[in-house]
Amino acid sequence: MNPKYESYMRLFRILFTVFSFCLLVSCSHSQNLADSTNAGCYPLPGAKVISPYNNNRGSHRHTGVDLKTKPNDPIYAVYDGVVTMSKSYYGYGKCIIIKHADGTETLYSHNSKNYVKEGEKVKCGQKIALTGRTGRATTEHLHFEVRKNGKPVNPMPLLEKLSKKTQLK
Ligand SMILES: [Zn+2]
Repeated sequence: MNPKYESYMRLFRILFTVFSFCLLVSCSHSQNLADSTNAGCYPLPGAKVISPYNNNRGSHRHTGVDLKTKPNDPIYAVYDGVVTMSKSYYGYGKCIIIKHADGTETLYSHNSKNYVKEGEKVKCGQKIALTGRTGRATTEHLHFEVRKNGKPVNPMPLLEKLSKKTQLK
């Protein structure tokens, strides 16, 4: 065999091995929410909180955080996961629930449009919906919930962690 060709092949094999290893490392990192090396993505970049978690609403307490930007702004998946709900769901309006590798669920609702379907795998930072005011909402916003073992928990620790990380374009 042509020795020049052989050295090219050797170089190619080395590069391929390095590339595969990097791919493996980055994939395994995106498997775990608690892994600090997994940057995550803010669900609605540039938004401000218009209603905090656990806010008293008379008959019930607020189960999530309301984030506001403009109508029809893109909403992003905060981590990799699988869509377990994407439909109109009572007062939530158009609603998406994503289940992540560690069992944590994130919920995005009042959307004007959902881009993903139940059963679909989504990537961290993937555009999944647009902000709207479907369901019980008085203004266009994102109602964002984090659920652990099926129960809503305060999303602020997660949002604060995400807001310090790089935003996707
Ligand atoms: Zn809300």
